[in-house]
Parts: sequence; C-alpha cells; structure tokens
Amino acid sequence: MGITIEGVSKRFGDFQALRPTDLTIETGSLVALLGPSGSGKSTLLRLIAGLEMPDTGRILLTGRDATYASVQERNIGFVFQHYALFKHMTVRQNVAFGLEIRKASRAEIRARVDELLELVQLSGFGDRYPSQLSGGQRQRVALARALAVEPQVLLLDEPFGALDAKVRKELRAWLRRLHDEVHVTTVFVTHDQEEAMEVADQIVVMSQGQIEQVGSPAEIYDHPATPFVMSFVGQVN
Ligand code: ADP
Ligand code: MG
Repeated sequence: MGITIEGVSKRFGDFQALRPTDLTIETGSLVALLGPSGSGKSTLLRLIAGLEMPDTGRILLTGRDATYASVQERNIGFVFQHYALFKHMTVRQNVAFGLEIRKASRAEIRARVDELLELVQLSGFGDRYPSQLSGGQRQRVALARALAVEPQVLLLDEPFGALDAKVRKELRAWLRRLHDEVHVTTVFVTHDQEEAMEVADQIVVMSQGQIEQVGSPAEIYDHPATPFVMSFVGQVN
C-alpha cells in the first residue's frame, strides 16, 4: 500500500483550494501532479506532507491513518523549488542533518552520507558549501538530504522549476534513474506536461482544485478524459 486519499478537501477562507478528492498512489510508483498554476497541486502535496490539515477526509500512508499525524510521524522527505540548504554547513553536514537529529552513530552517519552522495553523483563535493555549487547540484544535495532518513514517501514540489531548461532536462532523466534504483514512492508537482510525460509512471491532471484524470502518460495522451485534459496536455510550452 502506498498513499490513499479519501474525500480530502481544503479551503482557505472562502476559497476552495481542493475539492473533495480521492486518489490512490501505489507503493514504489513515481507520480506527477500536473496542472496549471493555482490548480491545487501544492495544496494536495502539503496535505500529504502534513504541512496542512484537511477540512474533510482521510489520508492513509502505507495503510495507517495519518490524517492528523505530524510531519515527523509521517516518515516523508520533501524538496521544494527554493528549498534552502543550510548555507553555513557543508554538503556533507547538510545531508547528515536529519541523521544527527535521529541520533545515529558517527560511523553510521559517515557511511550513509557517503552512500547518498554517490547516489546523487556528488561524491567529490562533500566539503563544499552550497554557494560553491550550481543550482542543479544544490537540488541534488536537497534530494540526498530528503532521502537520508529513508523516507517511505518522497514529495517534490516543482523541484527543478527554478533551473534553466538544459539542467532541468538532465535532472529529469536523473530523477527517473534514481527512482529506478531506490524505488521510494515519489510524488512530484509540475506545471510542465512534458516533464510529467517524460518522468512519471502515473499522471494526476488537476484543474481548479480537482482531479480531471489519472493515468499513465500514454493513457493521458491518447485518451484525454475531459476537454481540459485535451487542451492542457496537447498544449506546447
Ligand atoms: P498550485 O500548486 O497548483 O499552483 P496551490 O495549491 O498552491 O496551487 O494553490 C491553489 C489555490 O489556493 C491558489 O489560488 C492559492 O492562491 C490558494 N492558496 C494556497 N495556499 C493558500 C493559503 N495558505 N492561504 C490562502 N490561499 C491559498
Ligand atoms: Mg504550487
């Protein structure tokens, strides 16, 4: 079991950011929440993360009711577009941060950090500071830090959005390979249909606070279920 969302909704004041929503995300899958700005993607992701509490409904994480669980209790890792690394800490210290607050031993931490830096292809970069890295390298450090605590779920909100097109393309391919290696259930938000098509196993298309369609990239592309999906997916950036 991965993530089950049952009747989850969220409003901010009078504004319904997410209408009552059902969604199942399989364990180990790589899922994109795709839609235009303001469609409720980040709200849904933040509800899964426990950064927002729903007005209605339930959220199950690997079979357990986590609707009102704290962020820490959920065993998730997340990376946001402008996710700041600690500037005064080296890459190694940044990645080790979550391990240190969990009181792992020094040797365990060193071994785990080495493994993670290799995974994100930054083995030689452990002693650098964030200011000495490119934007793409920083996002890979942020991913390594998120993965350090072996989360059951990885949540990425437009993780490559701030980067230039070439780097973004490289990181997409790299995220796909990383996922094939690590198999952690991953949900990422994007407004870029090409990115969703290229990277995800399943795409959840959203518009105006609701899900329009869920399907594989081929299903979404070949059989758009609504006029919105047809126009959004057919649109070229
Ligand atoms: P997306 O990530 O798809 O761009 P969001 O989930 O961030 O969309 O936002 C959906 C809508 O909810 C937007 O219109 C946004 O202004 C509104 N919204 C999101 N968070 C808040 C908040 N904390 N307070 C008020 N309105 C919010
Ligand atoms: Mg957003």
